[in-house]
Amino acid sequence: MERSLTDAAGRALDPLAESPERAEFRRELRRLIERESPPERIRELDEAASFDRELHQSLARMGVLALGAPEHLGGAGDVRDQVVAIEELAAGPTSMAAFLILQYMAIQVLSPAEDGEPLRVLRELVGGGCKVSFAMSEPGGGTDAARAMRTRAEAVSGGYRIRGQKLWITAASLADWILLLARSADFERSPVDGVTLFLLPAGADGIRVRDIDTFGLHSVPTCEIFLDDVFAPREAVLGEPGRGFRQVFGTLNRERLNAAAACLGVARAALDYSVDYAGQREAFGSPIGAFQSLQHRLADGALALENARSLVVRAAEVEAGGGQADVLATLAKLAASEAAAGITQGGMQLLAGAGFSREYPMQRWFRDVRLWHFAPVSDEMARNYLGERLLGLPRSY
Ligand SMILES: Cc1cc2nc3c(=O)[nH]c(=O)nc-3n(C[C@H](O)[C@H](O)[C@H](O)COP(=O)(O)OP(=O)(O)OC[C@H]3O[C@@H](n4cnc5c(N)ncnc54)[C@H](O)[C@@H]3O)c2cc1C
Repeated sequence: MERSLTDAAGRALDPLAESPERAEFRRELRRLIERESPPERIRELDEAASFDRELHQSLARMGVLALGAPEHLGGAGDVRDQVVAIEELAAGPTSMAAFLILQYMAIQVLSPAEDGEPLRVLRELVGGGCKVSFAMSEPGGGTDAARAMRTRAEAVSGGYRIRGQKLWITAASLADWILLLARSADFERSPVDGVTLFLLPAGADGIRVRDIDTFGLHSVPTCEIFLDDVFAPREAVLGEPGRGFRQVFGTLNRERLNAAAACLGVARAALDYSVDYAGQREAFGSPIGAFQSLQHRLADGALALENARSLVVRAAEVEAGGGQADVLATLAKLAASEAAAGITQGGMQLLAGAGFSREYPMQRWFRDVRLWHFAPVSDEMARNYLGERLLGLPRSY
């Protein structure tokens, strides 16, 4: 169902409404998703834990995989278009939205490349000819990833020898390339120092990848990576050795924003589904949507969704204008993940028995959206950050 903010005469009143071109892109993508990724297919792939390779290629043909990439490589659009693409996919094949967050992060990390392997990989990536995963988190921790990092890159003749283990890595078993952070030097002042960023072929000798059986997002694998004496030539280092974490910091705002967009998509789909269901399901001689307690819950969901959307749009405008939307992107991610959690939880309650059935989509939205409560930044760390950066309170950790 299409819902817009209008006045009593039905005129659109939204000062944050998107441009006609972006609105047309949204409609075009929605049509593609309806055609190629209908609910039965999403369910089948979720049950089979399969990635939708056909949809991935269709997205490549439509230019969705190239959003935000440099124009001379076939890129177009910016973070505002990425947000639209992720929201639309999250409302349907949510796992593909999770994959796109990774895709856009990899594009941002590789975009400064001017020659060699990184440029070749970037060119293929935007055309859908290869996939890249990003490996930072480890068994020792993802929140305090720099301090917990045990994967070591030891300097040897011609490059580095890498040993260690990465955990919870999206799409590593599908990927042709891995962006990997490894500790190449002990740190003195800050744990983010002494970490180097590598671009490694996923098939390099010594790399082994295992899929993890996860609770949600079944149509994109989540993996463990074992690195056993992997040789990385000096050219595999991206940027300056020892500065890898700082390079990745540059992508944090976009990742938070794109995760917020994924939450918007799930929240919107789950709210629409709940409203339709409430209009049709009857109890005590009336539709359950006539009961005030259910209406209030749905209205609260719509409020949370619109609040979150406003923050996402504001943060995306700042980023697209060349600014750093750090606080706004963090607010957006927190508001959107909480809106999505509230709406999917409320949807499960409203559907009651039907919510418990895997034949209805609510349980999948409820499961899939959990990820964005603790990744790419956890809701607790987002609050810590806001306490410090927005409110000027002492750092709490
Ligand atoms: C499906 C999936 C896909 C993922 N994809 C990737 C990927 O592609 N690449 C990658 O590198 N990682 C990935 N991750 C890892 C993800 O980023 C981490 O799970 C996340 O950063 C949290 O780390 P953790 O699970 O180790 O939790 P922990 O770091 O152990 O945290 C546990 C809890 O403690 C809380 N906590 C920690 N410190 C504080 C503090 N100072 N104040 C308050 N609370 C605190 C956290 O908020 C959390 O609730 C993925 C994870 C999943 C599940």
